[in-house]
Amino acid sequence: MSNAPNVYDAEPIPAAARAEIERLLNSGDLFRYTAPENAPVALLEREFAEMMGAKYALCVASCSAALFLSLKALDLPRGARVLIPAFTFGAVPSAIVHADCQPVLVEVGDNYRIDINDFRAKLNQGADAILISHMRGHTSDMDAIMALAAEYDLPVVEDAAHSLGTTWHGRNIGTIGKIGCFSFQSYKLINAGEGGVMITDDPDLIARAIIMSGAYEHNWKKHPVLQDHFARWQNKLPLYNTRMQNLSAAVIRPQLAEVPRRVRDGRANHDYVAERLNRSAWLAVPDKLDAEERAPDSIQFNLVGLNSEDSARAFQDAANARGISVQIFGLSTDNARAYWNWEFIDGPVPDLPQTKAMLMRACDVRLPARLTREDLDYIVDALVGAAEQVFDAPRAFGT
Ligand SMILES: *Cc1c(COP(=O)(O)O)cnc(C)c1O
Repeated sequence: MSNAPNVYDAEPIPAAARAEIERLLNSGDLFRYTAPENAPVALLEREFAEMMGAKYALCVASCSAALFLSLKALDLPRGARVLIPAFTFGAVPSAIVHADCQPVLVEVGDNYRIDINDFRAKLNQGADAILISHMRGHTSDMDAIMALAAEYDLPVVEDAAHSLGTTWHGRNIGTIGKIGCFSFQSYKLINAGEGGVMITDDPDLIARAIIMSGAYEHNWKKHPVLQDHFARWQNKLPLYNTRMQNLSAAVIRPQLAEVPRRVRDGRANHDYVAERLNRSAWLAVPDKLDAEERAPDSIQFNLVGLNSEDSARAFQDAANARGISVQIFGLSTDNARAYWNWEFIDGPVPDLPQTKAMLMRACDVRLPARLTREDLDYIVDALVGAAEQVFDAPRAFGT
């Protein structure tokens, strides 16, 4: 349909990036460690840490690389059991496998957040670390998780790839666990095509991650961390070379100032659409948790009273015919967010009935911050119209 809004295009990169990119192209200075100081990547690390209220930041090639380096920096033993929510992106268990650890999947409720009872049960079965993926920016109960982590004396890594701008009791997501990791891939709040960053207040953890990210020889001297934290690890850690380059930082830095607007508009758009979808008897947007202020760029909702996979597919088709593409995580073949497709994990596919039921009826629609009220109305009308067309029909026959 011609007037359906395009929800895939990104916003333009702020014009302020152009002069810096031109300067870098002219000088050819693209490697973060060539300049003696103030390389764009180093400046971005300083600015990002300050923006988040963290002591240290390390920019790397992707959020997946940041997650991998976090686990390596924690110095977990080979085969360590790392708890993750069973609703996440395939790159997350992959980062765990890459770090020679074993992902342990925890049930997720129909509000897309970790089921705390199953979390406790999995902790009791043995765990070495916790990696909380705030999938699609939905924050799990961090109070309960941090309390249990303290009880079991386990480190928490936050996968905040899609949660930049989200807060929990007013505190930035990504600063609650020991380490927080973010993505600059194009579908996230800040778009550099690819890129990631990790933040922490722990100087020893960041020193280890910096070296392993590829600060070979004495390049670590260009990072503002107490120098004795580095000297201790000289030549003792592998160099995984997964650094960020200066052009990425040049694209990212002017977008930091855009974050508050994108958060504000994304949240307003989401809440407007959520309120209207919730008026339909067939669609339900789960409530956020009380402590959480979200920064969404997409909306997830459940199909209610569904009696078959076919009717879910029919809804998807009807929405598509109206120009709105709906992803139902568990229905599309080879979906990277359906845990049964993570066949690279050792052992049998775990039995997670609750998460599976959610994945079979949870719908995903992109809702970038730049959409207008008109765009939003179009999307709501298409979704509600599709639901009525598909789910109201059997009733008509029944009377
Ligand atoms: C995008 C995303 C990732 C992966 O980020 P990359 O930068 O592409 O590696 C991991 N976890 C979540 C929740 C994501 O949304």
